[in-house]
Amino acid sequence: MAENETLNRLRQRLGEVHQLHMASALLDWDQQTYMPPESVQARSEQKAALTRISHNLFTAPETGDLIAAAEQQAAGGDADDPVVDALVRVSRRDYDRATRIPVDLMSERVRVTALAQEEWAAARAADDYPRFAPWLRRVIDLERQVADALGWTGRRYDALLDQYEPGMTSARVDELFTELKEGLSLLVREIGEKASGVSDAVLHREFPVDLQAEAGLEILAECGFDLRRGRLDSAVHPFCTHFSQSDVRLTTRYDAGFFSAAFFGTMHEMGHGLYEQNIDPRYEGTAVSSGCSLGLHESQSRLWENLVGRSRDFWIWYFPRLKQRFDCLADVDVEQWYRAINRVAPSLIRVEADEVTYNLHIILRYEMENELLDGRLSVEDAPQEWDERIHALLGIRPLTDREGILQDVHWSIGILGYFPTYTLGNVLSVQIFNRAVSQAPGIPAGIEKGRFAPLLGWLRENVLTHGRALLPDELVRQATGQPVTAQPYLTYLRRKYGEIYGL
Ligand code: ZN
Repeated sequence: MAENETLNRLRQRLGEVHQLHMASALLDWDQQTYMPPESVQARSEQKAALTRISHNLFTAPETGDLIAAAEQQAAGGDADDPVVDALVRVSRRDYDRATRIPVDLMSERVRVTALAQEEWAAARAADDYPRFAPWLRRVIDLERQVADALGWTGRRYDALLDQYEPGMTSARVDELFTELKEGLSLLVREIGEKASGVSDAVLHREFPVDLQAEAGLEILAECGFDLRRGRLDSAVHPFCTHFSQSDVRLTTRYDAGFFSAAFFGTMHEMGHGLYEQNIDPRYEGTAVSSGCSLGLHESQSRLWENLVGRSRDFWIWYFPRLKQRFDCLADVDVEQWYRAINRVAPSLIRVEADEVTYNLHIILRYEMENELLDGRLSVEDAPQEWDERIHALLGIRPLTDREGILQDVHWSIGILGYFPTYTLGNVLSVQIFNRAVSQAPGIPAGIEKGRFAPLLGWLRENVLTHGRALLPDELVRQATGQPVTAQPYLTYLRRKYGEIYGL
């Protein structure tokens, strides 16, 4: 086959697969935002139909033949197009992954996790772990089979982790997490001794929802999120999704009696959205046009939420505007506000945790899912083990399993190996931000004046533009000059919270 014809046919086929994925994402966005509840059954059939068509098209032997032919041509070395190279590399990875898991195992996994999620929701509502336990056992067993089908050399866990963070291994996560656990535990203890010093009462006043929505849209526009190529809506469980580089959807959740939920939630999802809007347009319409990994995606959401949104520089600029919008802040000054939004307090629920304690929640889940997967921990003993460990880490104990092992949806839907990406994202957010500031020293002064273009420009050029063209480790080394490392993150937390708490 002629070189051009091979590539054209490959691109056309992969393009169709990609557009089917995007259409499916739109159905999903609609389900989580505006769809009437009675439509659940019809919607799940619509999504299943699209998934079946795109999966069959992508895993067909012809796709494999076209990828192999394109690889041969690339090895021949005459056509040196980096966009084609990236497309072929990414497609090879996706194709191998998609074809390694037998169809029967895949559909069994879809079936069991759909039921397990329902049982989890019911068990959580009733605080009834024994109801969920047999389902968790089945999910873990299926994930073992998935890991074996994908293949692994070091630990079985690595095969699962690799789905979300390509190239990452549990050995490296162990190393990072050991260092983090030690540093964070010490910091939490020291802050605990001074805990009375900071109050967040001002965040729990009356913030009318329509004004919160206006503030959210204002921040999106000021930070450089293009609202002609995106939207902000509300959803019970906030998320970000996209259907093209020109259609990126953010969601947030409003609480009239608590400021932080919607505002920092919006900044978080905006970080994900800025990623999707700023990938090299040459990758548009292909599987390369997406974030490099979950950890890198989360590094961007955390960077905007925490390094920007919870910084003093940001509020020096934005607090006067916020006071104009919300009457309830008339008696609050920026220093009091800065301390309130950065209050640290051990809590039981991961998604409500502050910057300092958050990663300890993740480390607990990482350790437990490793042990559950290789059988060192039984499903039966897991709730007690959870409670003991959270007590050892944070000094507090759940009264119910709802506040403990039943709080997260992840295990019920079969995503083991996903949790570490949250902490990798936090660690990377600081590593990337530090590098940006060292190469473009005007960034902090810009933030203090509400000018975000220098920061977004640096991120676009060094991180976002590449999409999935590089592997996470390559991208991190190229953008920051070193592999992912815990120390900058610990230094950042100690400096920031040392000042707030007078350590
Ligand atoms: Zn996120």
